[in-house]
Amino acid sequence: MSNRLGLYIHVPFCLSKCSYCHFASGVFPGSLIKPYFGALRREVEGLPELSQKLNAKGTGAADWVIDTIFVGGGTPSLVDGREIGQALGWIRSTFSLAHVPEITLEVNPGTLTDDKLDCYREAGVNRISLGVQTFQDRLLKKVGRSHSAADSISTVEMCRRKGIDNLNVDLIAGLPGQTEDDWQENLVRVAALSPEHLSLYLLEIHEDAHLGKREGLAGASLPDEDQVAAWYQESVDWLGSAGWEQYEISNFCKPGRQSRHNLKYWTDQPFVGLGCGAHSYWAGERWGNERDPVRYVKLLEGGEPATTFRSKISPGKHLEEVIFLGLRLNAGLDLWRCRRQFGFDLRDRFGRELSQLVQEGLIEIQGDRLKLTARGRLFSNEVFVQFMQ
Ligand code: SF4
Repeated sequence: MSNRLGLYIHVPFCLSKCSYCHFASGVFPGSLIKPYFGALRREVEGLPELSQKLNAKGTGAADWVIDTIFVGGGTPSLVDGREIGQALGWIRSTFSLAHVPEITLEVNPGTLTDDKLDCYREAGVNRISLGVQTFQDRLLKKVGRSHSAADSISTVEMCRRKGIDNLNVDLIAGLPGQTEDDWQENLVRVAALSPEHLSLYLLEIHEDAHLGKREGLAGASLPDEDQVAAWYQESVDWLGSAGWEQYEISNFCKPGRQSRHNLKYWTDQPFVGLGCGAHSYWAGERWGNERDPVRYVKLLEGGEPATTFRSKISPGKHLEEVIFLGLRLNAGLDLWRCRRQFGFDLRDRFGRELSQLVQEGLIEIQGDRLKLTARGRLFSNEVFVQFMQ
């Protein structure tokens, strides 16, 4: 059986820059789109190791197959659907794909058309991730989003009409000016849309984002952190009773509808990222690309690699990452697998820390599984820090 790999494709183009955003994205001239997709293609052609492992076309069975693709951004739905279709087309014709790969595309409400959706469907996209964030127009405007609540609803309707039966909706708690009533309205509205998957993020203010700077924060009127934590906890309970199972700190789904691609990030599985700012993790190494799309295109057009850093992951760092990411999952960390992978039992290595955390009601051990408790999910950073080497 072949090994499985996830592929991430970054499309950095946005209609406006949201005040909380620190991703490699922004408002760029439309004339950059064609060269950008050309550079993506060059990037793949310049990855000989990847090509060799994945390119089994006509050469027998592949060692590796791509079983998930995530086209994210930025706003992939902003560009012409044919660009996306072509990019997926040449990935399909160059590499070996699993029989039915999960192919997700990120969409911002108000940027989708029937024509674009047809292109995506033809190219094999079978999952749409929709950046709704919140349902109050005044809040959307305040953080610089270019869509309205009505756009979110009509985009979901369009997806359903076109047969998309695997839909994720992103919501953010803690936006400037957001109130408890707003948050409850979000839950009621999202339940009415009934997406198969729901990502519920707490607003993080990153220093590189406009909101992380003094002028961005001035007058932002952020809701109180404890209040936002209470909204989160109420949402977990409410979503559970409404049929969405929580499987990760920020992620909920209807039975069997976990994001197969994102599960790779949390379970130490390899993935390769293409495009500006994209990161990769494979064979004990991490590497990342130039963040600026103009420089990214120039590098590839000049025959240079787009990689700006590459590092081998030390065993200690690897262990930290496996614990940190595995504990995010409700299923917890598989202690038996860790023992096989690292050669020792975490219960021996971290005996003192584990008893303390169990006593504080932050973690529990069930059989061979180490899990955060509901309270531990609220204080996850305090738990993770105990396992730093
Ligand atoms: S649409 Fe998404 S990627 Fe673009 S600026 Fe807003 S948060 Fe960032």
